[in-house]
Amino acid sequence: MLKHMILLLLLSSFLFEIKAQHPPVFEGMLTDTNAIKLNDLNINLVKYSYGKPKVSFLAIHDDEDTGVKAAFEYIQFNGGSIVDSQYGSVRNFKFSKDGFNFQTDPNSIYTQEGIIMGLAKYGNVDNDEVLMQLERTGNQILNYYNPKKLGYIFTLHNNADGGFGISSYLEGYELRSAADSVYINFEMDNDDLILVTDLKLFNHLKKANVNVILQSPEAPDDGSLSVYAMNKNIPYINVEVQHGHQEENLRLIEIAVKALYETYPALKEKASE
Ligand SMILES: [Zn+2]
Repeated sequence: MLKHMILLLLLSSFLFEIKAQHPPVFEGMLTDTNAIKLNDLNINLVKYSYGKPKVSFLAIHDDEDTGVKAAFEYIQFNGGSIVDSQYGSVRNFKFSKDGFNFQTDPNSIYTQEGIIMGLAKYGNVDNDEVLMQLERTGNQILNYYNPKKLGYIFTLHNNADGGFGISSYLEGYELRSAADSVYINFEMDNDDLILVTDLKLFNHLKKANVNVILQSPEAPDDGSLSVYAMNKNIPYINVEVQHGHQEENLRLIEIAVKALYETYPALKEKASE
């Protein structure tokens, strides 16, 4: 009997671990889960919300948790929500279909060209149904986050030390063609930055003296959400910092929310409707 109870206790704490991917979730926080199936891959879109619906964030890579934690801090003190994609704490969607394995970056499924390119990077592309499924998955994520209602897209990403950073967008570097303008605060870490698709937001963030990139309308179509947002004329913000830079992450989120609502006051009113 005792043995069974201990087993039950162990089992229930194990189940709790699985459910609460981001402990500690503070008192009063609400969660809502939208489960998506991509063949044998289960994707849970978990919406964490608290207080007034002031602002809504979206995290699409499940191995990038610093942004999620910073967003929790933000909404605990300001109200708001975050939709966090959970599918096994890895970067890519991996699944099989008709006996074949497929893999893609979930940030490449928002345009048709991007879907094909994203799959090709990891091998198998030759399955029309998979292409359709990925398009549907992208739409499901968008419908749940709901930029139509919000009037913007505000994503959170994290990156590794070195490699990609604000300087990747400078003359002579690999992402130069993706940016119209770049502003650098050389006192900040090269890996901590904000990317926007809108000149007004860019100018505002430049004034706030933070690393910021204005994406070019000619940015290569990689199927990413920023390219989607630019095509659809939806103001887009990505706050992206190096893994672990949680304090800086929170600071940049605060600055970006302020920039968003000072640039577009009507969106702030809309948020509290
Ligand atoms: Zn990311």
